[in-house]
Amino acid sequence: MSDAVHVKLLIVGSGPAGYTAAVYAARAMLNPMLIQGMQPGGQLTITTEVENWPGEVEIQGPELMAKMEAHARAMGADIVTDMVTKLDLGRRPFVAECDSGRVVTADAVILATGAQARWLGLPSEEKFKGFGVSACATCDGFFYRDRQVVVIGGGNTAVEEALFLTRFASKVTLVHRRDSLRAEKILQARLLKHPKVEVIWNHELTEVTGVEAPKGVSGVVLRSTLDGSTRMLAADGVFVAIGHAPASELVKDQLELHNGGYVKVEPGSTRTSIPGVFAAGDLTDHVYRQAVTSAGMGCMAALDAEHYLAALGEVEPAPQAVVAAI
Ligand code: NAP
Repeated sequence: MSDAVHVKLLIVGSGPAGYTAAVYAARAMLNPMLIQGMQPGGQLTITTEVENWPGEVEIQGPELMAKMEAHARAMGADIVTDMVTKLDLGRRPFVAECDSGRVVTADAVILATGAQARWLGLPSEEKFKGFGVSACATCDGFFYRDRQVVVIGGGNTAVEEALFLTRFASKVTLVHRRDSLRAEKILQARLLKHPKVEVIWNHELTEVTGVEAPKGVSGVVLRSTLDGSTRMLAADGVFVAIGHAPASELVKDQLELHNGGYVKVEPGSTRTSIPGVFAAGDLTDHVYRQAVTSAGMGCMAALDAEHYLAALGEVEPAPQAVVAAI
């Protein structure tokens, strides 16, 4: 601990919530340190076009995140490429241990670790992960030029992945367990009129079939959710896009969680069950889960942290009128 660096505010995570918190906290002279985590920039770095970030009719996800990072740096935030592996919220100051051996102590912490892709949990899915089964079309789509792929899911992610895969694949089959999609209407319209796309409604994936040498996927077994009948479909790749789970592993035994692992915050704030610890973005939001709402929560977390630190006497209290006017 003697080598520990002390900061007033530590931000964990580098999606829209983390970077926005860093911009606001830096402007409030809190000298925040932000630790980026395993995937700097978060989920938006593995998407392509973003069309719902206000002010940008269309921007690539990685470009948007690079701009957010540059913005946070320009405001003076200390952006660190490292991963927090242990976080002790039971002592003051809080202690974060990182993969590199770095130890950081902090008077306040903003958690913005986001969410990660969910899997179906099938043994055959596990067996072929990385060998034809993927949860990231932008990472792996390129390998399916002129091949047939299957996408599982009916939300925005599944539809976006399916549309992205049409750039490479000869055929994209989207398999959904119900008879209607929950994706935005504009995405649904694009999907349903795409000549390379077929949708199989009311079916779920029960098995990924494949070969051993070289290891690869040959097809899927689908089961009807209406009558239980099964059918086989030839496929070279399977993309699982069934939603995301909050990345709350670091704090699951320390903070109050709800709704299957989301960090619980006081309604209308980012305050968690431990004073001085704030949560923002997909880690805490099981309803909206948008880049822009995450950014909004990042802003709230920085303001909440500022008020908390002011009450501790760590920083000058922020004039309420100015905060309200920002
Ligand atoms: P999601 O909206 O939760 O959709 C998950 C989909 O997977 C649903 O259609 C669900 O079916 C299906 N599913 C879940 N568990 C399944 C299972 N065990 N077997 C088969 N199907 C299963 O997740 P998401 O698409 O990843 O989106 C997450 C959030 O990010 C959403 O709020 C979304 O709007 C947002 N997002 C936004 C954009 C954008 O704005 N362009 C892009 C990507 C994501 P049911 O429909 O039957 O429940």
